[in-house]
Amino acid sequence: MGNTMAAQETKSESAGAPALRMRLARRIAGERASMAELIERLIRIPTENPPGVRYHDCAALLASALEALGFASRTIEIPAPDPSSEKRYAVVAEYGTGARVVCFHGHYDVVPASVEGQFEPRWQGDALFGRGSSDMKSGLVAMLYAVKALRDEGTLLDGRIRLLFVPDEETGGVRGSGHLAADGWLARDVIAMFLPEPTSGVVWHANRGAITMQVTVKGRPAHVSLQHQGVNAFEQAIRVVERLQRLRAEVAQRRTALALKPDEARPSILLIGGQVAAGTNFNVVPAECRFTIDRRINPEEDLDEERRRLDELFDAARRDGIDVTAELLQEGRSSLTPADTPAAQALAAAVEQVTGRTAAFELCPGLLEIRFYAAQGVPAFAYGPGILAVSHGPKEFVRMDRVVECAAIYALMAASLLAPEPALPR
Ligand SMILES: [Zn+2]
Repeated sequence: MGNTMAAQETKSESAGAPALRMRLARRIAGERASMAELIERLIRIPTENPPGVRYHDCAALLASALEALGFASRTIEIPAPDPSSEKRYAVVAEYGTGARVVCFHGHYDVVPASVEGQFEPRWQGDALFGRGSSDMKSGLVAMLYAVKALRDEGTLLDGRIRLLFVPDEETGGVRGSGHLAADGWLARDVIAMFLPEPTSGVVWHANRGAITMQVTVKGRPAHVSLQHQGVNAFEQAIRVVERLQRLRAEVAQRRTALALKPDEARPSILLIGGQVAAGTNFNVVPAECRFTIDRRINPEEDLDEERRRLDELFDAARRDGIDVTAELLQEGRSSLTPADTPAAQALAAAVEQVTGRTAAFELCPGLLEIRFYAAQGVPAFAYGPGILAVSHGPKEFVRMDRVVECAAIYALMAASLLAPEPALPR
């Protein structure tokens, strides 16, 4: 069935799409200055996460930008994680009519600034510098203007495009997409989902899962000269670490078969001791040692199975008399949408038509919000104007040429996926 549908799409593209591509691209190119200005305004709102601030202001700007372009939006309030934190807000707008939905989904929170002044946008030729320029406020704007171009062009769509802007992605998404997913919000009627993460030109059709834990080992404090009365939590922790190192040696043998560069990045991951703390002073037997572990699983592995392996490891340590507990800090599933599904092919075709280059499908080495959709059977992909290597860093930037290109790609892809003719099987 996959092949038949691909063939039909190729035929319809060669008939009408080149002209549509030109018209959409021309419209979007004409919006370049407005797009740049909106990205600048978004960068100026420092939605730093952690801790998750200025969300109300940023959601309000997104809603007013939508309204100014003629799109009604709705703001969904999400309760604050604790009384001292701000509420979370998601902004959603839809364009078109019909049962099927193509979802353009992105996050508006950013990681904290790496350098002073990063929330003041700065230009260097075509490159716009500032926190969130690459990850991913420029992507939100590209998606918004893609929808505007389709509307202004009067492109016929059998279905709706949903723009969904969420908070809290940078800290795991529990109070953003996780909350919306639990409410049944995300996958409703959705036939494909696209996320403008900074993918550096490739398409991410899969992501690694994560199990992040804080491990606490308890001992008994004592003065150094009476150390025989104490239990050294640091040395007890080493016994736990030795077990973890044996597990790491085992999981490192498992390499993903998906495309991932460089080759050394293929093995499954267990990072031990990203954060470590123990004791109070050099002359006191440490009563407590805490350290983190970060297990990153390949799409070929099973999250529940890997979680069970870790739980068993700590159980065994406890049976050996070590006072150890492990608290889950974050858990996220891996995901994989095959690169030959119709949605993947529509994206690949649009990338090729706009950039002239073949789309490369790769595994994202980190967590991605495509997982919330893929978990419910929705084909989900990340493709955005930014560059991964500069995101989260002091010199984060995006090239406006790429923002304009991506907007055209999004528009073309949605037009193809929601094309009224021929009646594609669902
Ligand atoms: Zn991001």
